Amino acid sequence: MIPKRIVPYSRVIKEKKDQYQEKTDIELCCCGESRFGVELQGGNKVRLFNKFLMVEIGEERFIFNAVCDKCGKKIPVFDTACDGYDNQIPEKQQTETAGELTGSSEMYKCPKCKEGLFSIKVKYEYSDPEEMKELNLKDESNAFGWIYISLECCSCGKKIGDFLNFETE
Ligand SMILES: [Zn+2]
Ligand SMILES: [Zn+2]
Repeated sequence: MIPKRIVPYSRVIKEKKDQYQEKTDIELCCCGESRFGVELQGGNKVRLFNKFLMVEIGEERFIFNAVCDKCGKKIPVFDTACDGYDNQIPEKQQTETAGELTGSSEMYKCPKCKEGLFSIKVKYEYSDPEEMKELNLKDESNAFGWIYISLECCSCGKKIGDFLNFETE
């Protein structure tokens, strides 16, 4: 399982499922290609951690968009205000409106060669599919409990594993 809106822009690499968990690895694709700009908005603080550049998310809203190099389409990959498990619970008070985030956005650049096109892999983890069915969630496909995003620079090949590693519940 992956979020419905991502399905048209994904190629499944790996799927693993048992009664407790479901994990899906995908690569983002658009226009038959997999080269994207990475647009970051909100509470992102890029920091060096174990030799990898990672994004650190605080309480502030954070948005990760992939922008297709060929057609310019913006794919909303992750938004802390509307994606993930907690945001799918019907009783949850919406603390922020999930509209456009005002304020500046930045296009991420490769830390090695400073170019800005990447292939993007995303891993979604969902817990206990049976339990999720009973909870009457707003959108089950978007109720992932954990998301990982890794990047690979299209120019120099630098891999940035766990660019994002975030628990949503
Ligand atoms: Zn495209
Ligand atoms: Zn590079």
